[in-house]
Parts: sequence; C-alpha cells; structure tokens
Amino acid sequence: MRKKIVAGNWKMNLTLAQGEQLINDILQAGLKLGEGQEVVIATPFPYLMKAKSLVKNYPGFYVAAQNCYTEKSGAFTGEVSAEMLQSVGVDYVILGHSERREYFQEGNDMLAKKIDQVLANGLKPIFCCGEPLLVREAGTQNTYVAAQLEDSLFHLTAEQLKQVVIAYEPIWAIGTGLTASAAQAQDMHAFIRSQIASKYGREAALHLTILYGGSAKPGNAEELFACPDVDGGLIGGASLVAKDFVAIVEKL
Ligand code: PGA
Repeated sequence: MRKKIVAGNWKMNLTLAQGEQLINDILQAGLKLGEGQEVVIATPFPYLMKAKSLVKNYPGFYVAAQNCYTEKSGAFTGEVSAEMLQSVGVDYVILGHSERREYFQEGNDMLAKKIDQVLANGLKPIFCCGEPLLVREAGTQNTYVAAQLEDSLFHLTAEQLKQVVIAYEPIWAIGTGLTASAAQAQDMHAFIRSQIASKYGREAALHLTILYGGSAKPGNAEELFACPDVDGGLIGGASLVAKDFVAIVEKL
C-alpha cells in the first residue's frame, strides 16, 4: 500500500506567531490519520525547528522545507543545504515547485542535483512537475512532464526512487482558482505512474505516492482524492487556514 499525504505549502507567508497558531489549530482539530496517511507542513526555513518541535509528538505529522541548495556546503551565501535541514529534524523537502522554476531559474538538471543532496542526507524529496497553460492548450502536457521526470529523476536507483514523492501541479491551476478536473488529474497521474513503471517496473510505480496540487480546497478535495492514481494533495492557499486544511486532510 502506498502512502497518502496532504502537504501544506505555506510559501512565503505568515509570521512565526501566526505559523505557530496555525500548526496548533491543526493539531488540536483531532484529526484521525489512518495507517499510511501523513500530514506534511512545509514552512519557511526560519520556522522549521519550531514546526518540528510542535508536531513531534503527533504520529503521522511531518515537516518539510520548500527548497534546498545543490551543494553540500561551502561559500554559498544565503543558501541552505540538505544536511542543515536534516540536522534540524526536517523530514521532506519540496523541490522544483513551479515558482522556483520560474522566478529562480531552476531547471531540470539543477533539480537533479538537489534531489541527490536531499536523498544523500536521508530526507525525502517532494518533486513537483507540471505544465504551463500554453503546453496544456497545445495538448503536449504528457511529453512535457515526461521530460521533467526523465531529466530530474531517472538517474536515481530503484532504491532511491522509493524515497521520492511526486506532486503534479499544472501551473495554470496554481493559485488561480482553476483546478484541473478530476479526470485531467487522474489522466496525468496515471501517465506519470506509467512512466515510472516503464523505467523502474510495476512494483515501484504502484509504491509511488503522487500528489495533486493547484487550487485544491475542501470543496474539490474529495473528488480529486477519489481518483485511483491521486494519493493526496500539495496545498498552497488553503493550507494557510486551519479549518480548510483540516477539511482537506479529512478527505484523504
Ligand atoms: P494553490 O498552490 O493550492 O494555492 O494553488 C499549490 C502549490 O503551489 O503548491
């Protein structure tokens, strides 16, 4: 059975006090996580240690960073390494979010290096992929996403791949209020799984957790999560409101 995950991506939002309040509100909502279900909270770097200390006595709750650097250590002012994240108790690292790709010029090759750093330090990458609107309109989204997977992930061994979570986030659906329909999400998730199956075999593909991201909210989470190849969500805007985030987790 593969893991089901709802991950909240706070992006560059909230003060420490607001974030602490949000996590406490989520923890106090009395969520009952089933076996293999996880909640992951991706805070800005400065709050990670605090977030970890808040969730550590709650089974099934984990903390994620939203990025890390390609190198192990050294003269890279302002950057944060995977080893540092590991040393403060981080569990997951989101990599390749479309905002990082667009505003910080993160390409597939750079992301391959970041994946390696994350895995080398015993952390789990949440690797984001997904096509822009023009690609969707041209109907070439499968080729586009296949290249993202191939260039950033396919150098991994089958053993390494077991640590990876994939998040499919069509760029046209992120923060826009436009959600991919359940059918569109299912089609792409099944395609991603088939790509993994042809490279790593059926077992590896069945084991892989694939999240949907892009304007997921309480009102559409149930339909999305009901798709056979959708194993949860990567939630942006709705992860900043405790009752919305909790309502989404309840749909897992
Ligand atoms: P959204 O963001 O839920 O606000 O669309 C999702 C994401 O960017 O991870």
